Amino acid sequence: MDSAEGGAADRTANSASARARRGALLSVIIPMHNEEAALGPLFARLDEVLPKDVAVEIVCVDDGSRDGTAAALAARAATDPRLRVLLLARNFGQEAALTAGLEAARGDMLVLLDADLQDPPELIGEFIALWEQGYDVVYGIRADRSRDGFFKRSTAGLFYRVFNALSDVPIPPDTGSFRLVDRRVVEALNGLPERTRFLRGLFTWVGFRQVGVPYVRPERVAGATSYGLGRMWRLAVDGLTSFTTAPLRIWTAVGLALAGLALLYAGYTVLRVLIHGREAPGWASLMVVMLFGFAVQMIAFGVLGEYVGRLYQEVKGRPIYLVREKIGFDR
Ligand code: UDP
Ligand code: MG
Repeated sequence: MDSAEGGAADRTANSASARARRGALLSVIIPMHNEEAALGPLFARLDEVLPKDVAVEIVCVDDGSRDGTAAALAARAATDPRLRVLLLARNFGQEAALTAGLEAARGDMLVLLDADLQDPPELIGEFIALWEQGYDVVYGIRADRSRDGFFKRSTAGLFYRVFNALSDVPIPPDTGSFRLVDRRVVEALNGLPERTRFLRGLFTWVGFRQVGVPYVRPERVAGATSYGLGRMWRLAVDGLTSFTTAPLRIWTAVGLALAGLALLYAGYTVLRVLIHGREAPGWASLMVVMLFGFAVQMIAFGVLGEYVGRLYQEVKGRPIYLVREKIGFDR
């Protein structure tokens, strides 16, 4: 466990006394997909609650919005020197937009924030205080999700349970992307070569000193969620396939179990013929066994396909995102 010891040594070197918000730069990274309606309330709130005793840059990543988000950001950047804007070439998805922001930001500590004010920016001060105490990752825990809707809550709950049962690196339940991360963690993350970026998993995988802060997740301030059923399913499958191969391996066990059952049934059939003589019926049981067998095979193929497809994505080596335009980075 060399790396763990190295981490421990780093920790003492970078303990409380070495970290102070004064003189440090805070990057607030905000991915945006069709968030025009949320921009007004968002910036008003940020102006109100962002800590005044630390230098701030706000990195807004427009993830191929179809509304006026990009134009509004460009206009705002012309008057707000804290603002840096990345316009992505198309919609690459939230994880890709966050990756773009993490690679472009220059802060000593970086905060990932949703544009819709579902991640209360008031907490950033508290996050920074914990960072000063030596924590490298301070993540928000959605303690109260009663505003999230029954369906979203139950599917999210199920996902975290399945994920943590299968994955080698369990992620704290009810976390999202909302967190503060030290520069060293971001460097480690930016160095990871994989293209499917399930960030809340990767942030756990890198380790370092982590702590959670519970908060009540409010409703979206304006606009509509980008996550329909299809996107939620894709994110869940991305997360699972990036962090566990258990869905692949399970079919060995299922196959063995079914083969065992088949053997038992074969023995029973032979015995029955020996005792009662040959008999014609059995169509129904045959159909059941066949249909069930086919279904199981289909599922196994489907799971295989998910992994092969992702292998293919990784091997092609296309970039995670493309930037169409950068605004405010020369300041
Ligand atoms: N987002 C993005 N690209 C996407 C989808 C979402 O950058 O393809 C951003 C979105 O603008 C918001 C954040 O990711 O700032 C969270 O998205 P949303 O609020 O739609 O998700 P929910 O809170 O409903 O899970
Ligand atoms: Mg939201």
